[in-house]
Amino acid sequence: MKIFAIGLNYASHNNEMKRTFESKEPVLFMKPDTALLKDGKPFFLPDFSEEVHYETELVVKINRLGKNIGERFAHRYYNEITVGIDFTARDLQKKQKELGLPWEIAKSFDHSAAIGAFISKEEVTNIQDLNFHLDINSKTVQQGNTKEMIYPVDRIISYISKFFTLKIGDLIFTGTPAGIGPVGINDHLQGYIEDKKLMDFRVK
Ligand code: MG
Repeated sequence: MKIFAIGLNYASHNNEMKRTFESKEPVLFMKPDTALLKDGKPFFLPDFSEEVHYETELVVKINRLGKNIGERFAHRYYNEITVGIDFTARDLQKKQKELGLPWEIAKSFDHSAAIGAFISKEEVTNIQDLNFHLDINSKTVQQGNTKEMIYPVDRIISYISKFFTLKIGDLIFTGTPAGIGPVGINDHLQGYIEDKKLMDFRVK
């Protein structure tokens, strides 16, 4: 199982990161299967970072084998979605970026890809018009709508499949809107798509 993630897919987040860089293609990175955190299990703060951030994202699960998928056929390759957290060791990421080095130690460490329970995409009217948000300790800290994506889901799937064969069960984190921030010990994270709570776990 592979986990793909898209960076810089919401203009609002790019502004807060002070990224003026504009990519003509999606910014893609990967996490290994050991990054997965699910079933409400706690996230243990790693000791190698002083600044672990949440990034709340729509997550899509691939349900068909595919390669070189045309954008107009991409909707046939997934049928379940959820909300997830792309945990990021922001201090390490800053350092890696400054040095022009790869991001993996900041983005792909154990349990850095938290996911909620999946729902069928049939349960939503339009995957590109979905409100999602994260509450920490019962206060909403980040919210977005998938219509703000620079690269919509079908475009992302088409792009990824040029380089990588997509397999059943692969996951795609589709990028974060503005409002990222740190997590601390004992924080209670709850993630929603519309008013449906799909993700619920604690930081330890
Ligand atoms: Mg992200």
